[in-house]
This record gives sequence, C-alpha cells and structure tokens, in this order.
Amino acid sequence: MKLSEMRQILDSGAIRLTKSLGQNFLHDQNQLRRIADAGEIKPTDKIMEIGPGLGPLTELLLDEAGEVLAIEKDERLYDFLRKHFATNKKLTLLHEDALEYLRQKNIDSALKKRADWSDWKLIANLPYSVASPILVELAEAQGCPERLVATLQIEVAKRIMSASGDDDYGLLTLLLQLRYEPKGWFKMPAACFFPPPDVDSACITLVRRPVPLLNFEEARVYTKIVKRSFSQRRKMMMKLLKQDWPADKLASAFEEIGISAQERAEQVSVEQFVQLTKCLLAS
Ligand code: SAM
Repeated sequence: MKLSEMRQILDSGAIRLTKSLGQNFLHDQNQLRRIADAGEIKPTDKIMEIGPGLGPLTELLLDEAGEVLAIEKDERLYDFLRKHFATNKKLTLLHEDALEYLRQKNIDSALKKRADWSDWKLIANLPYSVASPILVELAEAQGCPERLVATLQIEVAKRIMSASGDDDYGLLTLLLQLRYEPKGWFKMPAACFFPPPDVDSACITLVRRPVPLLNFEEARVYTKIVKRSFSQRRKMMMKLLKQDWPADKLASAFEEIGISAQERAEQVSVEQFVQLTKCLLAS
C-alpha cells in the first residue's frame, strides 16, 4: 500500500489517527515484504495479526497463509477492513482489544477452554504501548505460538533479543526466552511509517524452542523467581529471593548451579534460572 493510497483511505473515511493506539502505519513495501518473509509462511499456516490497521500486511499474509486471524481495536479501522476484505474467506476479523482478548483466553478458571495457539504464528506490526504485554501473554499461554514475528520499538527489541550480562538484559528477555529462541532482527527507520514515530523500530523473530525448558507448572514458578530477582535490579538476587524461599534451600541451590551468593540477576542466564527453578522445586 502506497503512502498516497493510505492518505486517501484515511481522508475519505475522515479517520484521524490516534497516537495512544500506536497508529503508525507501515507504507514501505520492502519492509512489509521482509516482515512477511520472516514468518516463513506455508500455505497451511494459521497466522494471528494484532493491529492490522489499514491491512497492508494482512494482504500479504492472506496471499500466502491458509488462515488469518486479525484483531483490531479501532472500530473505524475494523469497519474499513471488514468491507475491504469482505470476500476473503481466509480472514477472521475481530473487533477487540487484543491484550484483553488474549488474557481472557488464558485465564485459569476456564482451564479446559484455554486457547491453544501452538499451531499458530504471530506476524504483526504491534501497537507499541502494549507490545511487550502482548508478547508475554502469548509466550505464557499453555500452547504458545510456534513463531513470533513482531515489529516494535528498537529499545524493546534489544531487550528481548539480548543475553545475560548485556545492558538490555532483564525481565522481558527472561520471560520470552524461556519459551523462544531469538532467530534474528532487522532495523526499520521511522521514515517507513506514517506518521513517523519518535523512535526507530525493529522487526524481531523468535522461534519456539523445540523442547520446552520447563513444563507449564514449573514455568509459573520460574516467572515468580525471575520477577522477584529483578524486583530491585541493584540488589543481590539471593537476598531478594529470601522473601519467598528458605535461606538454606537457596544456599544449596545456588551452590549446585554455581551462582555466587553475591550475584545480581542481570548476570544470570536463562538456563541458570531454569536450573534454579528445578532445584528449588525439588524437595
Ligand atoms: N499493521 C498496520 C501496519 O503495519 O500499517 C498497523 C500497525 S499500527 C503500529 C498498530 C495497530 O494496532 C493500529 O491499527 C491500532 O489501531 C491497533 N491497536 C492498538 N491497540 C490495540 C489493541 N490493544 N488491540 C488490537 N489492536 C490495537
């Protein structure tokens, strides 16, 4: 979709873009192509797109995939997309807040009805204000998608793709890399969007680990441990964890894994947090 076309659709529908909904639309055809290519789409694939906007990425996804579920919060854009793609049987379009929708699907009380996204891929140019919670929600789903291809602010992309000891390493890295391995990323200058956002963007690709590092119940404990360990970044991790775990158990777990009692969470790898979870859960 060319920028002139985008402007014309917005003008004819008298749609004024809303900053709080992260409405920076991608008009660069090469970048749209690169995002779709990062999805390695097969004709049988089921793709979830969050925030389709005016649908330029949706169009590429519909050309290549078997099924597309697109979730748009803005009613004006939803109405436009409904008409624009009216004859396309591959598309399911939802007018929802995607984060609320995913949370609703993940709630414990409806265990049997929990969504299973395990044979889905996410390919999306995400609304930046909710990009991180959306990715975490998907990663924490019992059946998490096989691949996440997401465009977001470059700072957030760096946090997700980093390794222990890096400046950007932290809670978000650990929550996503438990289930996913970083596959690659590319930068997208602000000028590729209309209107251009204040920051540059990047498209990241995460691929689900072939064998989960922890089962679903263990993963919940891992999340608690990681959150507590990063609750005060400059404090020693063992001291923080004493709020939840007996000191002797912590001391022997740290010794077994080879983490110093003085270590800060930012130096501890995903694999070490996994080991720590297993040690602390072992009776
Ligand atoms: N995919 C389009 C593109 O590449 O041009 C638009 C991307 S734009 C960065 C983000 C889109 O997400 C907007 O269409 C916005 O209305 C929508 N959006 C914002 N918050 C949302 C939410 N919580 N759930 C679903 N869609 C949302």
